[in-house]
Amino acid sequence: MNAPQGTVFESRGFCPVCEGPTTFRATSETPMPPKFQAHWFRGALRCQACQSGPRSRAITHVLNRLRPHWRGLVIHESSPGGPGLSPKLRRQCPGYLVSQYSPDLAPGEVTSQGWRNENLEDQTFDDASFDVVLTQDVFEHLFHPGRAAAEIARTLRPGGIYLMTVPIMNPFGTTVRRASLSPDGEVVHHLEESYHGNPVGDGRSLVTVDWSYQIGPYLSAASGIPFTVLVIDDMSMGIRDPYNAVVVGHKAALPDLGEDLEGLRR
Ligand SMILES: [Zn+2]
Repeated sequence: MNAPQGTVFESRGFCPVCEGPTTFRATSETPMPPKFQAHWFRGALRCQACQSGPRSRAITHVLNRLRPHWRGLVIHESSPGGPGLSPKLRRQCPGYLVSQYSPDLAPGEVTSQGWRNENLEDQTFDDASFDVVLTQDVFEHLFHPGRAAAEIARTLRPGGIYLMTVPIMNPFGTTVRRASLSPDGEVVHHLEESYHGNPVGDGRSLVTVDWSYQIGPYLSAASGIPFTVLVIDDMSMGIRDPYNAVVVGHKAALPDLGEDLEGLRR
């Protein structure tokens, strides 16, 4: 069978999202030299069965490996993604809960669309509410990523895990702040403005941080739980993306030795 017009890359494999054999295909309206193809994959290398992209297949693969019984767990996802893991969780996990953030609604309010209004940096969830917390390409848009990581750690149960995808723009370089908030809440741009598409609000999200692999130690220090950066390249699952990483935080169940662990870090 000939590939459809516009195909720049095609490969057979097994999709961890729809859990079956499939074709992964990237298309482009303009010619794509081979050396640029992988940079195009993040948005374009789609599973022809479920339309998932590489980042969704990567985080699904990690979830399947670390928590194969996820269908029976309580899972919080902030700002769910498009085709791929989020719709699958909605269909298959009764304990799946979605939040998004709108400053116009009351904190914790549940909307008629079924999502709960939560600022990831200042959540209304009780401590130890979730077995798994997920975010997909959110942490490059936060003004206070350390505060968000601390909140996520607070809401995880002991033994819980946090999984995120995030574009690692400068893997071996430095982490760069692109935009911050002034004390009176004004956005301050330190570099040229950069935006990603956003399904809510005005359709775009400002990029606040260009991350490096320092994201692991940074979020570990901020949250008090250890974070690991996993880089996966496996075309048998259609996982290839130059910025891709799945960052994993693990909230271990700790023994009580009578010390105030949080106090020790102050
Ligand atoms: Zn699929």
